[in-house]
Amino acid sequence: MLTPNLNVNEEGHLCIGGADCCDLVQQYGTPLYVMDENMIRENCRSYRDVIDQEYEGRGLICYASKAFSCKEMYRIVQSEGLGADVVSGGELYTALAAGMDASKLVFHGNSKTPHELLYAVQAGVGRIVVDHLYELDRLNQIAKAQGVKVNVMLRIKPGIDAHTHDFVQTGKIDSKFGFALETGEAMEAVHRAIQLHHVHLCGLHCHIGSQIFETEPFAEAARVMIRFMDAVRDQMGVALEELNLGGGPGIKYTMEDDPLPFADIIRAILCALSEACEELRFPKPFILFEPGRSIVGGAGLTLYSVMGRKTIPNVRTYVLVDGGMCDNPRYALYQSKYEAICANRADRPANETVTIGGKCCESGDLIGEDLHLQHVEPDDIIAVLATGAYNYSMASNYNRNPRPAVVMIKDGESRIAIERESYADLILNDR
Ligand SMILES: *Cc1c(COP(=O)(O)O)cnc(C)c1O
Repeated sequence: MLTPNLNVNEEGHLCIGGADCCDLVQQYGTPLYVMDENMIRENCRSYRDVIDQEYEGRGLICYASKAFSCKEMYRIVQSEGLGADVVSGGELYTALAAGMDASKLVFHGNSKTPHELLYAVQAGVGRIVVDHLYELDRLNQIAKAQGVKVNVMLRIKPGIDAHTHDFVQTGKIDSKFGFALETGEAMEAVHRAIQLHHVHLCGLHCHIGSQIFETEPFAEAARVMIRFMDAVRDQMGVALEELNLGGGPGIKYTMEDDPLPFADIIRAILCALSEACEELRFPKPFILFEPGRSIVGGAGLTLYSVMGRKTIPNVRTYVLVDGGMCDNPRYALYQSKYEAICANRADRPANETVTIGGKCCESGDLIGEDLHLQHVEPDDIIAVLATGAYNYSMASNYNRNPRPAVVMIKDGESRIAIERESYADLILNDR
């Protein structure tokens, strides 16, 4: 099985976190997102424990909530002692509505609106990560008008090539995010931030990409950032106190993926960081990480009902399901690979190779091509695995398909985290 929270019971049904997927379909219908709360919590702890045990607790793990944002998720994260990273007024609103401690929120985004900045300042968000100079000045003015001083970090492009898909690589110089080191832009931004009276520059941020399997790109990013913080100290006499190294650890989407335990990645980063600090006699910063995918990705799956199948001789077999790019656009966007299992016959051999097609009016609306699957017929249930991250959060109402429900499993018991949208929900804002 792909992840340790999956197994097959005596009836040959796929189970997640102790819950039978066929029972879930009976109760909640399809398409259905299912998330395993215990696994989410274990992932949160594995990150937090490394900071506690190997960095004297001088750090904060901020769950990158763009991976999966809803009130229940923020409640879980908060109860595990994590903060969260939010990237829009909407995510901030959801986090606050769930009772998240605003001081543990980090607000990101390369194109925040004045309204979003004001909202973040008024809510008392702990750290705002500034992406460009216009934003720095705008934020300073907003804070001035509110009579406060806000904590900011600057988003830096450390210029690291993390060998991942181009679309998810954001640390390179050609990126819409942040200030480049090489061009002097980053140093100029630090200089400007220090001069302003209503922002407090608490530290720097970088995020080198996503679905990364090696430790070295992360370790190198840590070294590059410490060297830059040292250069800032030399040139401006200010030793910045915090370093936020973003997210990015990869997860197992298919049997070919072989990710390291997340804790090992953090350990390697902390090791590189400590060495760099010793070498330069730079005080070890308070550290932040923002894992998203690795906290929720493997903890979720999506259940679909099969509507039909089409075998095109010498070409391929399509299996058609009752969802698609409207609930999982990742294949259409990045040709992301998934594994699938027939949830009601999970004990049988996967002896067919099929393409799973969605219900949207686009030829490119596929969940995946050349997937190995048990023979399926209409009314069978297909589970697409490791869909906990960037699925619900990227879902749309394309073709006016209502978004599926999200069910949370805890110790084998299920509960609704997000209700299925109704047709009435779809016309709520129509006039
Ligand atoms: C996307 C993103 C993350 C989370 O990345 P994962 O690959 O999901 O861990 C963290 N920080 C920032 C700034 C991001 O843009």
